[in-house]
Order: sequence, then structure tokens, then C-alpha cells
Amino acid sequence: MSKKYKGKTCVYCAQEPSTTADHVVAREFFLKQHRDNLPKVPACGECNSEKSRLEHYLTTILPFGGQHPDAQHNLQTMIPKRIHRNMKLREEVLQSMQSSRGTSIQIDPEKFESLFIYIAKGLAWYHWEILLNSDCTARVATISDAGIPLVNSLFDMKASNHIEMNLCQTFFYEGMQANAPLELTLWKMSMYNASFVSPIKGADGNQFGSQVIVLTGPSKYIQSRLPQIFKS
Ligand SMILES: [Zn+2]
Repeated sequence: MSKKYKGKTCVYCAQEPSTTADHVVAREFFLKQHRDNLPKVPACGECNSEKSRLEHYLTTILPFGGQHPDAQHNLQTMIPKRIHRNMKLREEVLQSMQSSRGTSIQIDPEKFESLFIYIAKGLAWYHWEILLNSDCTARVATISDAGIPLVNSLFDMKASNHIEMNLCQTFFYEGMQANAPLELTLWKMSMYNASFVSPIKGADGNQFGSQVIVLTGPSKYIQSRLPQIFKS
């Protein structure tokens, strides 16, 4: 492993020294031929394994809601092996399917929320070297396409940085960093163009989501100015 990732501060807990390079968006979300140049960050062993646990679940379950051809390919090639090896996961997938309507899937809200917070923290460091320490907090909301105009108004804030990325046509994200405080970041993400039964209350009250919104910042700052979509 290169020096770039070792002996730094873990970007997820912002506390422990890093021992590994972590892919911010797990490689397993992408087809094998599309895994080059994915963002990596320094991480400690504990955060890395906790995040892997969430990724194992979500890389299996998210493709079921995917409209994207790679999600279909993923379902046909990689998922059956994963499910076959893991009985508990297989049950979770079956439950999600049974309780779903249409093409959407039901997802464990805690796991979903936790993974997207990890991803936002990873991207904040990867793009702007922002460490979100214990004074910071993160909020997650999911919205359907119909709710996008509401969210776009949030993206009107004065920003010192703004980024839009498309990882292998699979994972889209847009991020903003405020002028001050620097830890104030806002993210909009979507995976496989997947539509899922929103695990978290949506902005438009719609239970179907395809966009995940994450807000990070100093806890004190966020609590007093929390936009409506993050209130539940
Ligand atoms: Zn850590």
C-alpha cells in the first residue's frame, strides 16, 4: 500500500490512524471491467470492516431496484454467488422482494443511512480534504425524481467548491462545500438509477426514492439550520 493511505487519520472516524486504503464506493457495486480509478481514502481497520459489512448487504440488495443495465448484469453474474454463500443475506433479499411494490425494494434504513454517511465522509476528504470529526454530524434523506427541484434549491447555497461526478455510468454524485464552515457539505447521489422504497422519510412525502441526499456539518450549526427535507 502506498504511503498516501498509511499513518494518516482515518477519514471515517477522524480519530484513529489509518491502516488501509478504502474504496469510498465499494468496488463490488461496479462490474469487474469498470473498477479502475475509483476514489480511495485512508481508513482504520475498524471503520473499514464496519463499512464492508454494510457494503456486503447493500451491494447485494441495491441492484434489485436498478434500472441500469449494469445492475441487471450484476444481478445475473455476481449476486447469485454472494447470496448462495450467505443464508442470512438471502433471507433479507427475499423479504425485501416480498414487501416491495413494483420494481422498488425495501432496504434496512439503518444500514442504508450508515453507508451513505460513510460515502459522504469519504468523498468530502477525497475532493476537499475535509475531516468530519466528532463535533460534526451527518443527515440523510431520500427523495424521488419529483422531489429534485426542492433539493436543487439547497444546491443554490454559496459554495467554495462544487463537483459533479459519474463513476462508470453507475454511481452519480454531486457535492458542494460551503464557504464557511468548511465542514458543511451537501451531496446528492444515485446508484444504478435504482428506485427503492425510501428507507427514510422523503422530501416530498413520497415513499419511493432514487436520490440520496446527505448533509454534513458541525452539529451545532446543522441543528439550528436543518432544511425541512432532513426533518422527520
Ligand atoms: Zn476509523
